[in-house]
Amino acid sequence: MRTSQLFISTKKEAPAEAELLSHKLMLRAGLIKRLGSGLYTWMPLGLRVLRKVEAVVRSEMNAAGAQELLMPAVQPKELWEETGRWDVFGPQMLKITDRHERQFCFGPTHEEVITDIARSELRSYKQLPANFYQVQTKFRDEIRPRFGVMRAREFMMKDAYSFHASFESLQQTYDVMYGAYSKVFTRLGLQFRAVAADTGAIGGSGSHEFHVLADAGEDLLAYCPTSDYAANVELAEAIMPDSPSALRAAATQAMTDVDTPKQTACADVAALLGVGVERTVKAIALVTVAGEFVLALLRGDHNLNEVKIAKLEGMADFRFASDDEIRAALLCPPGFIGPVGINADIRVIADLTVAAMSDFICGANKPKFHLSGVNFGRDLPEPHIVADIRNVVNGDVCPDGKGGVLELCRGIEVGHIFQLRTKYSEAMNCVFVTEQNTQQAMEMGCYGIGVSRIVAAAIEQNHDAKGIIWPAAMAPFSVAVVAVGYHKSEAVKAAADQLYAQLVAAGVDVLLDDRNERPGSMFADMELIGIPHRVTIGDKALAEGMVEYVARREGEMKKIALSEALAWIQ
Ligand code: ATP
Ligand code: MG
Ligand code: MG
Ligand code: MG
Repeated sequence: MRTSQLFISTKKEAPAEAELLSHKLMLRAGLIKRLGSGLYTWMPLGLRVLRKVEAVVRSEMNAAGAQELLMPAVQPKELWEETGRWDVFGPQMLKITDRHERQFCFGPTHEEVITDIARSELRSYKQLPANFYQVQTKFRDEIRPRFGVMRAREFMMKDAYSFHASFESLQQTYDVMYGAYSKVFTRLGLQFRAVAADTGAIGGSGSHEFHVLADAGEDLLAYCPTSDYAANVELAEAIMPDSPSALRAAATQAMTDVDTPKQTACADVAALLGVGVERTVKAIALVTVAGEFVLALLRGDHNLNEVKIAKLEGMADFRFASDDEIRAALLCPPGFIGPVGINADIRVIADLTVAAMSDFICGANKPKFHLSGVNFGRDLPEPHIVADIRNVVNGDVCPDGKGGVLELCRGIEVGHIFQLRTKYSEAMNCVFVTEQNTQQAMEMGCYGIGVSRIVAAAIEQNHDAKGIIWPAAMAPFSVAVVAVGYHKSEAVKAAADQLYAQLVAAGVDVLLDDRNERPGSMFADMELIGIPHRVTIGDKALAEGMVEYVARREGEMKKIALSEALAWIQ
């Protein structure tokens, strides 16, 4: 393609609301354009990148034996009532009413729809296993859409769902998909890590997340360099917004006899944090073995882990709460005052108002309740992964018992796979006829990739002061041919047109910059846009039969013969 045909809209400055580097660069390079909170248009250049990511994802899904289909984005309420998730999914779900007053949602995920397909289409063990995927727009009404397409409300997901006659078969496909995910992120040229994860609102048993490693990541990962232990430390965000209603009810019940503490130190706490009294912040409470407690306070919400680490590193002697206590604390209903039950040594991560937190700090009327008597109901994700995730300090002994030491890093969740087991198939009567002619609920797996988030995550990992440096597999163009003086010099025009034609014929994704611009601004654009290879054709070098070559990542200019340019690039 020629720049004269391509819509390019680069900017020197990013709008003030863009905090994260990838967000700034995506706006400056003209890859995306904001329409509203969490809503972005993929501009032509950005869409090329998105399509390249999709292509890699599709090819690995096909290779893993998954079949592509495309389900409706809008889903009827009735399906979600069958699984109980119409109420449970919470405010992340965008609900829609049609002209007949029927209710729908804009799909945040597609377990219900695919299970509905499976129960009517897959009847016999002979049709199993089956694995379907789609690449589709999802909508989640995120509390805080931020960082551009990194946490958008409307975003592109690849979601796959597998159906099985046995747990063994599910495990096999799960392993194949795990492998396929590793191939996707390797082919995309990303540094990533797979970690054990909580199952959140999707539910089920085993689960792994795939994280692109980046300092800007919202998640904190603990891993052991000498074993294969790796886990997501951060559970709070995953659990809290989508908590099952039964749990909320149980937590509310457990707190009915809690005295409302006096809100004495609000002003002090607010001053400490530099925020207003009603501002919601996150708190982490740790009760030490000695019975003291430390409260880690936080101003924003995505530096949670920094504070957590800082506090933890200063303490030798603490114990974490049990998983149920943590869960219960996290699932407390809105308006809950005071973060924890203080019967045990406890760790809590919770959203609190400053006023509520000050009660805890003062401690005059610490709320007291036991959670042991609470019956958690079927909806609760099984706690085995949670139980795995205890040590969150650099240098802690790895919980796998192999004697290694944990290290921490940050990650951006770009993929998540789950063994759903029979959670959905039982709720929706998705059964098949076995070889013995009996009926049995299907085992299920589901597998998500944040296709649009990957684009931002890749930039977090691949950039410099000049702009984006695309990994080869997702670059909008592989080569930029910058023709300096295209409109003034016949020789430059002829050489540029010829090299361009050769590259096109060789199947190279090439962008010919034939604009009538200053060389400096053409270079700056190509660097900001992040095209991996650049060939510059100008009169001076051309007189000696030479052109200039620069690899975006290395940045050093080499002179090469025009006649060798094609071979050089290939
Ligand atoms: P997160 O923890 O970041 O909120 P999630 O655990 O809610 O993500 P999943 O339900 O596991 O998300 O969905 C599969 C994938 O979809 C995620 O791994 C992520 O890459 C992507 N994704 C989820 N929410 C968003 C979003 N708001 N914007 C962009 N991508 C998203
Ligand atoms: Mg998550
Ligand atoms: Mg989420
Ligand atoms: Mg997830």
